[in-house]
This record gives sequence, C-alpha cells and structure tokens, in this order.
Amino acid sequence: MVNLNEEGKIIDIKSERLPERTNFMEWYNALLHLAEIAEKSYPVKGTFIWMPYGLGMMKKITGVVDVELKKIGVKEVLFPLFVTMDFAQKNDKWFNGFKEEAFYIDGKELLLRPTGEPAMYPIFSEWARQGKLPIRIYQTVSSFRNESKTTHSLIRDREITFWHEIHTAHKTVEEARREADMHRKMYSYIWNNVLNIPDIVVSKPKYEIFAGADSAFEFYTILPDGRLLENGSVNNLGQSYAKKFDVCYTDENGNKEYAWQVCTGNGARFLAAVISIHGDDKGLVVPPHIAPIPVVIVPIIKSTSSENILKEAEILRDELISNGIYTEVDDSDITAGKKFHIWEIKGVPIRIEIGEKEVSENTYTIFRRDQNKKYKIEKSNVIKVIKDLINKDIPKELLDKAKAIYSEKIIYVTNLDDAKAEIYKGRVAKAIWCEEKECFEKISSLGPSIEPIGSLVGENKEGKCIACAKIASKLTLFGRTY
Ligand SMILES: [Zn+2]
Repeated sequence: MVNLNEEGKIIDIKSERLPERTNFMEWYNALLHLAEIAEKSYPVKGTFIWMPYGLGMMKKITGVVDVELKKIGVKEVLFPLFVTMDFAQKNDKWFNGFKEEAFYIDGKELLLRPTGEPAMYPIFSEWARQGKLPIRIYQTVSSFRNESKTTHSLIRDREITFWHEIHTAHKTVEEARREADMHRKMYSYIWNNVLNIPDIVVSKPKYEIFAGADSAFEFYTILPDGRLLENGSVNNLGQSYAKKFDVCYTDENGNKEYAWQVCTGNGARFLAAVISIHGDDKGLVVPPHIAPIPVVIVPIIKSTSSENILKEAEILRDELISNGIYTEVDDSDITAGKKFHIWEIKGVPIRIEIGEKEVSENTYTIFRRDQNKKYKIEKSNVIKVIKDLINKDIPKELLDKAKAIYSEKIIYVTNLDDAKAEIYKGRVAKAIWCEEKECFEKISSLGPSIEPIGSLVGENKEGKCIACAKIASKLTLFGRTY
C-alpha cells in the first residue's frame, strides 16, 4: 500500500505491526492505516480517503449529532460550497481572518467555503425579512482551508470533511443565549455519554475568539502526547454578523432590529480524540455507541466439525441482530489467531469465540477489547450480558479510564517555571489566571505552540494569577497545542 507523508512524498507503511503508543504520531498514523480508517494515498496535501471502517465510525458520530439536533428542533439543510467574493467580503473581520487560507477559484470570483457564515447569512437576511425568525438550521459539509501549519489526518486537514455546523438567528438576546447553552449541553452529552471522553469546556477570552464573534465556548481534548486539541466550539455571535449581513426584522413599533446569532461546529476531530484517547498498543478501542461492528463472532474451526460451529455462530448472530445489536461472523479463510489480531486492531468492543467446546457446552467465551480480558458467559444469558456491556458497563468504564488519564496528565501549578518543566514532560498545566491579554502572552511565551486555552467552565479557585500575581479566580489549562 502506497501512502504519502504530510509533504506528499511516498512513504512505506510496511508493518502489520503497530508502533508503541508512546511514539504517538507514528502510532496514530500507522493505526489510521492498519485499522482501515484513512488512506493518505491521495496526491493532494492535507487530504485523505475515508476507508470503510473509519467512515463507519464517522457516520455513527454524525448520526448521533443528527438525532440530538432533531430532539431540539434544529433542521438540516445543505448550502453550496462556493462562496461569492461579494458575500465573503460583507464581514471584513471574517474576511481578514480567513482570506489568507481560502482556496480561490474562477479567477478569484469564488472561494471554497472556509466556514459557513458568508455563504449562509446573506440568505438569512432574506429569510428574516420574510418573517422566518427564529432560524435554526445545520448542515454537514466539507470546509476548505489552505493550512500553513503541518497537516495531520482528522486533526488538521485542508479539506475538513464531515464538518457539522449549526447556525441560528433569534429576535432576542435571551433566546440566543438559551440556544448557545443548549448546544454546549448537547456537546457535553456527546463527549461523556457517546464518545466516553470527559468534556473540557472553556470560555475564551475576548481577544481569542472566532473572527467577529462576541463570546465563545470551546471544547478541548488532551492527546496522549500531552498536547491540547481544540475540539468543537459554540460561538455567540451577538449582533455583529447580523449587522454586517443585514439579518434583521421589523418589530411591533415598526423599528428595524438586528437578529442575535449563534454558530457552532465540529467534525472529524471527534474521531481523532476517540482513536487517540481510548486506543492502546494493540490498536483501537471503539466506544460501543459509535462502533460500526459492536460484536464480532469468530468461529474457531480446527478440523471436521466446522458445520456445527458455523451454524451456531450464524444463529447467535441473527439473535443478536434481532435484539438490535449489529453483529458479524468472521468466516474468512485465515487462522483464528490472525482474526483476533485484526479485530483487536479495529477495536471491536466484544468478540465472541465459538469452537467445538462452545458447541457442546452451555457457555460462550467472550473477549472485552476495553479490558483485553476473556470471560465465560452462560448461553441462556448472552443477550442480556451483551446488551449490558454495550449500553452500560463498557461506556462507563471507558469514561472512567479516560478521566483517570486526564487527571494524570493535568497538574496544578503556581509558577511558570514549574509549568514549563511539566509541559515538557508531556503534561498540561492548570493554574489560576486573570484572563488579561498580557498574561495570555506571558504564558504563551513559555514555548512554541504553548497557550492558555481559556477559562474552565464550572471551576473556580481564589488565588494569585500565575503570570501577574494579581488576585484572580478563574482557572485555565495550558500546554502545547495542535
Ligand atoms: Zn494575570
């Protein structure tokens, strides 16, 4: 298999073997290939081919987003990917923020959308005039950015695929705030309950928010190399975009009023976090709620008795499927040992082994990928046991494990020298800070790509700002970022 590195040169991924996870980027790239998530053979820098297994996980994630948004009444749409230059320049702050990294086409008359606002808000202006407020829509699309930073598949791509973005417009500020809160809660739910990763939410200081926004919440994940990865945002746009794009309505007194807007979004970084945080030296560990194959049955056929074994495997598969648990029987023509190896790389949550012994006795042998442990279970109990594992036990244990990883990575510090030393050991520093720009810059000057990510939501501590020693009460995290 030919693969390309970030510079577009051919590299040879020869191994059937995964490097140790301590060598994080090497492990990550090899796993994308070995678990059939992404192939980097496409000859355009910063792009990749979604392979069936990776696509299966990503579609499960977007499926969860679809369901959650449906629950709160946000409707799906699909806008064109082209943005006219006229639309793009309506908000100068946005345009200045994105003009360097946009891809231009058609003699610079069009650009490929780096984000959705300039394509959508001129149309929102029409809709608002037609009396259609509130507008509450979302779409799942590609975004395009000519990245100058090093690209990493699913983490920083030039074509950002499966990007879902929510855009709303409201008559009142209270309505917009409630909307933003709803989305923050939805993302927290997805992180904890679906992806089984604890949510780290921060409110961003004014000088660090999305071009043209009023305030913003961002989600972060900590990857195994100790680097912080921004992973989704909820932006309260205030009226600034509405004023630029003329999204307005006439109130009962005949006055022109501007709408209040919210936009949010995330995409493949959800999956990058799942791969990185739950994975181990053997490969992926897929949370059951996003597993394309939650259960695989491996028939262990030694000599003559293959028919009975296969028959039993197929009956069990059909029973699990009729109970809502998608299951596959691996009847491929390779040894059971090789099959185990492949399904462990792919992180299938539960493997059921059926051999001669299992056919004649009343138990099955199951293997839990999250624990790397085998158990015997009673045949009569199999549906209940598998259901409990998939719906309760495995998600809970994965979340607990991820919490433990985070608390080992995050270290509370009271001076910048200690912070720097810890960061270079692969940790994330936690400290009191005052949110002032000078302190942001002082902390950021500790080293390349180091920065405070914002103020943790729901966590305060009275004390001295780590950078200026003034009394403050917000806590921030800082470390190297992607
Ligand atoms: Zn300070």
